[in-house]
Amino acid sequence: MNKAISKIGWRFDNTYSKLPDTMLSKLSPIPVKAPQIIIINHSLSKQLGLDFSTTNEENLALMFSGNLLPEGSDAIAQAYAGHQFGHFTMLGDGRAIVIGEHISKNNQRFDIQFKGSGKTPFSRNGDGRAALGPMLREYIISEAIHALNIPTTRSLAVVKTGETVMRETPLIGAILTRVAKSHIRVGTFQYAVISEDKKNLKTLFDYTVERHYPHIKDSKTPALDLLKTVMEKQTKLVVDWMRVGFIHGVMNTDNMAISGETIDYGPCAFMDTYDPETVFSSIDQQGRYAYFNQPGIAKWNLARLAESLIPLIDNDKDKAIKIATETINSFSELYKKNWFKMMRKKLGLLGEDLKDEGLIIDLLTWMHQNKADYTNTFCYLMNEKIKEEKIYSNQGFISWKQQWQERLKLHKNSPEKSLELMRLANPLVIPRNHKVEEALEAANNDDLSPMKNLLKFLEKPYENQEGIIEYQYPAPPSNEKYQTFCGT
Ligand code: AMP
Ligand code: MG
Repeated sequence: MNKAISKIGWRFDNTYSKLPDTMLSKLSPIPVKAPQIIIINHSLSKQLGLDFSTTNEENLALMFSGNLLPEGSDAIAQAYAGHQFGHFTMLGDGRAIVIGEHISKNNQRFDIQFKGSGKTPFSRNGDGRAALGPMLREYIISEAIHALNIPTTRSLAVVKTGETVMRETPLIGAILTRVAKSHIRVGTFQYAVISEDKKNLKTLFDYTVERHYPHIKDSKTPALDLLKTVMEKQTKLVVDWMRVGFIHGVMNTDNMAISGETIDYGPCAFMDTYDPETVFSSIDQQGRYAYFNQPGIAKWNLARLAESLIPLIDNDKDKAIKIATETINSFSELYKKNWFKMMRKKLGLLGEDLKDEGLIIDLLTWMHQNKADYTNTFCYLMNEKIKEEKIYSNQGFISWKQQWQERLKLHKNSPEKSLELMRLANPLVIPRNHKVEEALEAANNDDLSPMKNLLKFLEKPYENQEGIIEYQYPAPPSNEKYQTFCGT
């Protein structure tokens, strides 16, 4: 069976597919007409212990389209539910299939998922397919997020299917291979707690703890510990998003992973000009998922997780609710602590000082009022050359900078030390929206070089590479009202 791809090095050990039938549906990807490789992530494949040189490109295209499944795979679509823009819905993998769990070189377990692999029992009215633009967008942004040192699912490959998908216009069909610590979402717990089989919740809980957080197995309060652990992970994740100006765009509960990885790249984008209310997604009319609402939404989503865990927190429901509520209420303090810690790093501040809060808020306010570019302002403070420097001769900025420089002297700091801190926190380059669009448009017209050039810079966002300046410009003014689309 599948000899052509048998030497690649897949090591499947599938555990989720052994969960009860009501949690998933077993099925294979629906074959596609004429698969063709667009991009393969060779640095990721190395980390996974896969060797694609053992076969040819044609076979790789067959494999990454799901036409030819590697030995040991046990393909499933997962059931889940979720609050989408606040409304509860039954969902599930409507256009994705996990073909199995691969054990990497250093014995880590990863879901290998095909996104755009055809209809499943959870497709509702959808066609189960995906278009090239959105899949490459996920590839670019997820790899950028990874390089920014932010937990995320990764992208291993994108293939064209040789089929057309119908959206508002006919589009090129594609499949993305996504690699994730798991695809267990807040919404998976929401599904389990209301599913007919009352045992599903405990089964999912035990599975999740075993797979992700085995240290809490022997705890006296394991459900509460899981909630606290996920809360910590997701808090850190959102703080990291805020650090680099990332706006996820669809923080529905089904798009929040229990592992704490960024997942489900849809209408996400990076903020150029600092404005807390920035929203790019065309479907987010109310700004529910705006830049500055992200922590509040993370808390809201964690509250949905807490609700789902109530039956496992304590047999006494009132007591369980009280414990869960107290835990969720501690989010704001936890977030604030982590956010200030992150902002101090962005500014190279050692230790803590009473005036730090004011200093940080003053800079953000100045940036907002003066429409300064978020990323480039921190580059400027690191003495990196950027093109638009005129804005920083503004009097407000100069006096802020003086206070900052006074503060920098505290806690036995030195310019070297603070710069070192700043360099780890402040990227020199982010996926600028117009650059991403340019790359996608070219790819749609069979020219992959703009995307590959962009990826080269995004791979090392903290390094000053030759030619970087072209990737540092904010969007031209005509692009200011940039909009992203869900791409389903
Ligand atoms: P997303 O917005 O990608 O998080 O998707 C939300 C839900 O819609 C998930 O259950 C997806 O599997 C499903 N979905 C999205 N696009 C499609 C599609 N083209 N066909 C079937 N289901 C889809
Ligand atoms: Mg989703």
